[in-house]
Amino acid sequence: MDLAQLETTMAELGQPSYRTGQVWEWLARGADSFDQMSNLPADLRAQLAEKLPVSTLEVENSALSVDGTEKALFLTADQRPVEAVLMRYRDGRRSLCLSSQSGCPLTCTFCATGKMKFGRNLTESEILDQALHFRRIEDVNHTVFMGMGEPMMNLDNVLAACEKLPELGIANSHTTISTVGWLPGIQRVTTEGPAVRLALSLHAPNDQLRSKIMPVNDKYSMNEVVDAAREWRHVRKRKVFIEYLMLDGVNDSPELAHELAELLLPKNDFKVNLIPYNPTGEEYQGSPRQTIENFRQNLMKRGIHATVRLTRGRDIDAACGQLAAKANEVAEA
Ligand code: SAH
Repeated sequence: MDLAQLETTMAELGQPSYRTGQVWEWLARGADSFDQMSNLPADLRAQLAEKLPVSTLEVENSALSVDGTEKALFLTADQRPVEAVLMRYRDGRRSLCLSSQSGCPLTCTFCATGKMKFGRNLTESEILDQALHFRRIEDVNHTVFMGMGEPMMNLDNVLAACEKLPELGIANSHTTISTVGWLPGIQRVTTEGPAVRLALSLHAPNDQLRSKIMPVNDKYSMNEVVDAAREWRHVRKRKVFIEYLMLDGVNDSPELAHELAELLLPKNDFKVNLIPYNPTGEEYQGSPRQTIENFRQNLMKRGIHATVRLTRGRDIDAACGQLAAKANEVAEA
């Protein structure tokens, strides 16, 4: 729902401003039509239905993985592709993976999104409408900004959306913004915005290797970024999640585990999440399972808490780094 447009429409219809809030409350609880909004006068509901779509996004395609993960491909009003994912876990967790941009202007070498053409930043409403789509299907309780795009290049809209997610049932402490290390963004959320969590996509423990696989590292160097993440941790009193993709023969040696541990010590600022590589049809192979486990053990031995991420939705290209809104999917839909 374009919330600005809703407000204007209400004003044009001579409606009191609390009506906008009523509509939002219904949407946040999963309503999919004005018709359901029973505390609005019937004629107003009809007028709204005529003037406004319930979502800024059209669903083009939905895919369901064997593990219960569900991916939706949307199009914005100006035909930009956007993907979002719902992950269902046995313990009842329902986690949304949302996009902040259509495509991504950065060119991380292992990520499918970086290979598609960059479209534009998404609006606050376009971000929320991804979440509302899944909210209509079932209750949701976690969000990660790990879909398409770099959230910190669109921080105003991402933070505005984060402010509203609690009304959908997603507490700020259950919302995580993941960044490539966009320094001004990390600095901003250290002192500004809701108390959401921070994840840093590190993927290498030194500048030389990091620049090779993530060109953005030439803009904001690793040490500056890690220092900023430490500062965030200090001010926000929450550990920073470090994401570390496991690429066979590239960044998975015991020496690099050692270097990573050195970089992250003292130990209580960070939690490392080792990510099995999801194929994106590119030059890399994922590290073997045993290599990942050894790497994890090497970190743990040095006092760095590390876990291995459960891969979800790989069969439907919904896993991390696989969101690319394949041109053929858009065309077929
Ligand atoms: N731009 C932000 C958020 C989107 S990516 C960021 O980079 O943090 C979310 C996570 O998926 C990042 O950690 C990213 O590095 C990781 N990722 C990218 N490509 C991947 C792949 N092929 N397999 C597994 N994870 C990948």
